[in-house]
Amino acid sequence: MSVETVVIVGAGQAGYQTAASLRQKGFTGTITLVNGEAGLPYQRPPLSKAYLLGKLDASRLPLRQGSWYTDQRVELIHDEAVSVDRHDGVVVLRSGTRLRYDHLVLATGARNRTLEIPGSDVPEVIGMRSQADADRLAPLVVPGTRVVVVGAGFIGLEFASVAAHRGASVHVLDLADRPMARAVSEPVSRFFQDRHQSWGVTFGFGEGVTRIKETEGHVTAVVTTTGRVLPADLVVYGIGVLPNAEIAREAGLRVDNGIVVNADLLTSDPDISAIGDAACFPCAQLGYAPTRLESVQNAADQARHVAARLIGATADGYGGLAWFWSDQGDLKLQIAGLADGYEDIVELPVADEDTQKFVLCFRGDELASVETVNLPGEHMSARRLLSGASALPTPSDARSPGFDLTAWGRAIREPASTA
Ligand SMILES: Cc1cc2nc3c(=O)[nH]c(=O)nc-3n(C[C@H](O)[C@H](O)[C@H](O)COP(=O)(O)OP(=O)(O)OC[C@H]3O[C@@H](n4cnc5c(N)ncnc54)[C@H](O)[C@@H]3O)c2cc1C
Repeated sequence: MSVETVVIVGAGQAGYQTAASLRQKGFTGTITLVNGEAGLPYQRPPLSKAYLLGKLDASRLPLRQGSWYTDQRVELIHDEAVSVDRHDGVVVLRSGTRLRYDHLVLATGARNRTLEIPGSDVPEVIGMRSQADADRLAPLVVPGTRVVVVGAGFIGLEFASVAAHRGASVHVLDLADRPMARAVSEPVSRFFQDRHQSWGVTFGFGEGVTRIKETEGHVTAVVTTTGRVLPADLVVYGIGVLPNAEIAREAGLRVDNGIVVNADLLTSDPDISAIGDAACFPCAQLGYAPTRLESVQNAADQARHVAARLIGATADGYGGLAWFWSDQGDLKLQIAGLADGYEDIVELPVADEDTQKFVLCFRGDELASVETVNLPGEHMSARRLLSGASALPTPSDARSPGFDLTAWGRAIREPASTA
């Protein structure tokens, strides 16, 4: 049966991109985008960066202006999907509206894990996910505010750098032994730790939070797992997310660390796809291990893949190269590939050791990821290399004198003539 009516639940990066790509690829049927948040669909990355710093105003957060949805005949409905009737092919909204679909795309994203400890229900304990969260936080981050950040992942550290640059005193806690431990290699962790310390940020590793002390409904201190009492006016947590998979589970779809999909991003029901932060997919770069990624690249590329499949324009399974970025102070971290389970690293020389870093991570002899700081050209070379090269450098190639990643990529693309 050909697909005439597509319903997309969730109007974040993945949901919006599905609608946009369907139209770009010539889909002429009906597209309905169910937006569970207020306002126009918007981008999240600036929330913990330029938006919080006041360098990007609210009018620049939306992914598209309102007229785009009208022009592209994408019906944007502000409502929440509460259930899926797979038998009749219908999504039921909180308002009672029933949306019939030929194909349903679940792009429901994820929500923050919350701090489940005594005292965490006071207003100055805030997680960072939505524009509303950033709007609550911005006025609280002023010179002299004592901030405790719980979680030294990307978002925690981005927030820490903004707060430190706005004159707050910032202490970061994490149960791991180094910053961004799940995402980057040890040298890159240590580099960021040093730079944050130079901005005045202090760290407690191997240390979590057991209790938040409050007086008259306001935070006064944080009690840590090692028994320290850290005075605080504001607690910001970034301790991971939970995929929004409830409506999928209740509809009888497979859920395991997200909505489980196959290599084509189809759920156990061939009329339902799942993408973005909510989806657990077989990741080609990790030997097809079930993986859930949280990044703009993943959300957008998976959306493009589903749109292409729906118009019958793709035969291969999803194989987008994972890449990420994080802006902290004057440092732009960019990662191409996935460092998970790396066994060997090679650090390449940089011109300015205070502001740049260049690290190759290997699983066995296989190049798994390339981490760069303030080296955008090298990041793009790494993406090109990891996306399509027939041969990748091994650790011994990378250690050989004069090794140049960009030249390597070029040599692979333009092999020397054998004539
Ligand atoms: C502060 C912050 C900074 C970030 N910075 C970066 C960065 O620098 N680089 C990067 O690559 N990534 C970054 N990310 C991650 C990136 O933004 C996400 O990976 C991406 O937004 C995922 O898109 P998504 O559409 O899958 O999910 P989401 O953006 O979470 O969108 C899902 C939407 O679905 C809605 N929804 C859920 N259930 C329902 C329902 N039942 N009915 C209707 N609507 C529903 C949600 O309310 C939400 O609006 C950042 C994330 C945050 C929070």
